[in-house]
Amino acid sequence: MNTFTFDVITLFPKAFKIMENLGVITKALERNLINVNLCDLREYGEGNYRQIDDRPYGGGAGMVLKPEPIYKAYESIRKSSKSKTLLMTPQGKVLKQKDLLRWSALDQIIIICGQYEGFDERVRCLADEEISIGDYVLSGGEIPAISLINGLTRLLPGTLGDPDSLEDESHNSSLLEYPHYTRPLVFRDMKVPDILVSGNHKEIQSWRKKQMIKRTNLRRKDLIYKKNMNYLNFNNIEKNPIEIKESFFEVFDCYPDW
Ligand code: SAH
Repeated sequence: MNTFTFDVITLFPKAFKIMENLGVITKALERNLINVNLCDLREYGEGNYRQIDDRPYGGGAGMVLKPEPIYKAYESIRKSSKSKTLLMTPQGKVLKQKDLLRWSALDQIIIICGQYEGFDERVRCLADEEISIGDYVLSGGEIPAISLINGLTRLLPGTLGDPDSLEDESHNSSLLEYPHYTRPLVFRDMKVPDILVSGNHKEIQSWRKKQMIKRTNLRRKDLIYKKNMNYLNFNNIEKNPIEIKESFFEVFDCYPDW
């Protein structure tokens, strides 16, 4: 089996220790499905103090990571032909499941983690893509990098016990996943929906599909209108408008705007 390599440039390599206790990800490491090389930025610092940051030109608060140590660290990494370099920054494109899927076809990802006020602007030239994990600001790129490694690793063949669990998953089809239940059948007066214990697999499938759509409509309307027109066969809207409008009505209890 192939090994997917992550090379991470970081000032805090110990932050990645958490991956030794992360279930599926830890197993993937142990089974060599992934390999995480931590490149300690401090080792590439300058002078006796191994300086890696400095004050910003023009003044202002905080320290900025210097470009030379990051470039040197980057140049020390062996790159494969199927490699991409990602820069963690709250100014980047917000990470989506489809990005993880796209990158899972590579065999190497190099991640550059910022700290403090961020990095010298000239570091941006190294990146193929700039990635944010959400519209909020953390103190460093390590947690974003761990999130990315975690999300990508579980997409690699052989990582999850049951690869089918990826199929209906939230954000895969840009629909959120249907609700799950396990034993007991009744818990504190809350009962598992009858359909799930009916044994009728076709009905269960159809119930789950509707739940996915309902749920997404309730929680993330933005996803449903953008991407999921196909789900109800909206491609056929010209041919069969009434039927499609009816099915939309049935699922959403409302008519779409058109
Ligand atoms: N002053 C910067 C933020 C610096 S935060 C700005 O306003 O853009 C310090 C570092 O943490 C960043 O360089 C980045 O590597 C990481 N970081 C913080 N929030 C992040 C996010 N939402 N996504 C990805 N990386 C983030």
